[in-house]
Amino acid sequence: MKEYTLMFKPVFKERIWGGSRLHPKGHIGEAWIVSDHPEGKTPIINGVLSGKYLNEVMQTHQEWFSTLPLAKFPLLVKLLDADDDLSVQVHPSDEYAMINEHGVTGKTECWYIIDAKPGAEIILGHNAKNRREFLALARAQRWDELLVRVPVKAGDFFFIPSGTVHALGKGIFLLEVQQNSDTTYRIYDYDRVGLDGHKRALHIEKALDVIDFNTEKCHIEPCVVSKDNFVKTLLISSNYFTVEKWLVDSMHIFHSLKVFVLIYIVAGKGQLIYEDGFIQLTEGLSLMIPANMGEYSIQGSIEAIVCHI
Ligand code: ZN
Repeated sequence: MKEYTLMFKPVFKERIWGGSRLHPKGHIGEAWIVSDHPEGKTPIINGVLSGKYLNEVMQTHQEWFSTLPLAKFPLLVKLLDADDDLSVQVHPSDEYAMINEHGVTGKTECWYIIDAKPGAEIILGHNAKNRREFLALARAQRWDELLVRVPVKAGDFFFIPSGTVHALGKGIFLLEVQQNSDTTYRIYDYDRVGLDGHKRALHIEKALDVIDFNTEKCHIEPCVVSKDNFVKTLLISSNYFTVEKWLVDSMHIFHSLKVFVLIYIVAGKGQLIYEDGFIQLTEGLSLMIPANMGEYSIQGSIEAIVCHI
């Protein structure tokens, strides 16, 4: 079967902190837009593979994903719409999760801010020198001293390796690219009670095991390449994923890679044209270009976030 561009049906997740941008129903906090995670798989909605999930296609058409064998689909792409502050949390590394979470993978993630209300902030990092100091400040509820707040605006990008203390703040709409994992240790939940009248569980001990106390912060300088009506900004290249921002103005020709590529249209209108068809590009659409699909072009005026392994 000839490779073609895949489209997906998102899975919506109700969350107490969710807003109404993803779904008119409201309180929808997350849309999983490309996912093969057991808790929300996005089916393919176009072409002969319509109705199939990524793991099914991986079994029969491994070459659509990578020239190297993959144990499972490695990425999970989500949109998050926060109407309220999310709990402060940290994710384990692969090594820690392997031993302590029944062999699942860890979670390194990154955020591209699509929209943010004035004054919106995230929590990213902490001020404790070691485990003891972290625990002392947390027990004393001195959160303002312990946690680092960062103001955000549309277009900002944040890399959040496993071990980084972080929280999404209210008024932020973002795209998240992450390892295909959902292992989270909650550190602080603003002492809120849930719909059931109970506070959600915290996981301080495990969190302290995985929090990074190395105060050296790496600063990532985005690398920009521009040619033939196309501007590509490399936002991050890590062990788990590479994320780029693409700006196409009028027309640019691309070649598929040796791995699959996921494209999310942040803004603009246009068409993606490949050998056997075309897809109308509109804001909010996500696509997968299979490995070795061949040449394709993007026409129109498009801003996209693109990721691959
Ligand atoms: Zn997270």
